[in-house]
Amino acid sequence: MEIEKVKCLIIGSGPAGYTAAIYASRAGLNPVLYQGIQPGGQLTITNDVENYPGYPDGINGPQMMDDFKRQAERFGTDVRYGIATAVDFSSQPHKVTIDDQTVIEAHTVIISTGASAKWLGLESEARLNGSGVSACAVCDGFFYRKQDVAIVGAGDTAAEEATYLANLCNKVYMIIRREEMRASTIMQERVKNTPNIEIIWNSVTDEILGQHAVEGVRLRNVLTDELQEIPVTGFFVAIGHQPNSDIFKDYLNLDENGYIRTIPGTSKTNIDGVFACGDVQDYTYRQAVTAAGSGCMAALDAERYLAASNIH
Ligand code: NDP
Repeated sequence: MEIEKVKCLIIGSGPAGYTAAIYASRAGLNPVLYQGIQPGGQLTITNDVENYPGYPDGINGPQMMDDFKRQAERFGTDVRYGIATAVDFSSQPHKVTIDDQTVIEAHTVIISTGASAKWLGLESEARLNGSGVSACAVCDGFFYRKQDVAIVGAGDTAAEEATYLANLCNKVYMIIRREEMRASTIMQERVKNTPNIEIIWNSVTDEILGQHAVEGVRLRNVLTDELQEIPVTGFFVAIGHQPNSDIFKDYLNLDENGYIRTIPGTSKTNIDGVFACGDVQDYTYRQAVTAAGSGCMAALDAERYLAASNIH
């Protein structure tokens, strides 16, 4: 196996990874960044990003991530295709295997592998993704203001996003597969007290309707098998996220949902020299701007760790 030695290895290419790369390369750490399975991360499946400061006219997600990448490369980040397939954090330098064939020995590792939204798995959901189907109400709710939308899910995320959408939209149908919600009591109360949210219990999505844009949703009642069609222009999926942390689980402390635990107020993990930023360690905010901010923290933490360890 080929072995390469680096000072700073960044795994993942969303806003967190590229921001870490911009800071690390400007600090002279000569970072190598592997882009992972989805170069550019979750923003590459969004259309317009209108809430990232500095883009007053909005920008499309893939273009924005290309800008981030070019900015990182401008200062010397070595951006590469490749997926981290295994790690060994048992001793310094840490070892990360890429594509099962190259081992990188890194004094610092910045993990920015993100999280992936869970989807229902319908063909219509994939086809209309970005054309009315979204997994992020905060990102895309604005496009459906004063319109009728549906949201699937019954956890805290779905409850939070339903109330967020209710502020913008005319009507929000919340589609719940059982006859109770998983969300915390306070969030459930908030949903139930919002007059323009209508909960449809015991129902699953049979199909999202529309050829090129969402025009409605067909629901199936799981108790009666009865079908029902509701006209909506937006369809939000909020059935959870999966943090991309699997390969780290033997070394890093994860919470019960698989998110990497960092020391509050820092990007430090339980292993010296290993830092985490972005959605792989954050289920609360999940925004491009907060991910970018935490990427900056990770690069600064890595730089300080190298200085304190006398690694030049
Ligand atoms: P959860 O796993 O808590 O909830 C997922 C929801 O989606 C469940 O209601 C589940 O239904 C439903 N679901 C899953 N698969 C399907 C499917 N195929 N069809 C229909 N419905 C489906 O995920 P969340 O993202 O809501 O929350 C993740 C964690 O983050 C939780 O611990 C949560 O408390 C936390 N969180 C906290 C917040 C806060 O404190 N402000 C905000 C957001 C999240 P079922 O109940 O039937 O299994």
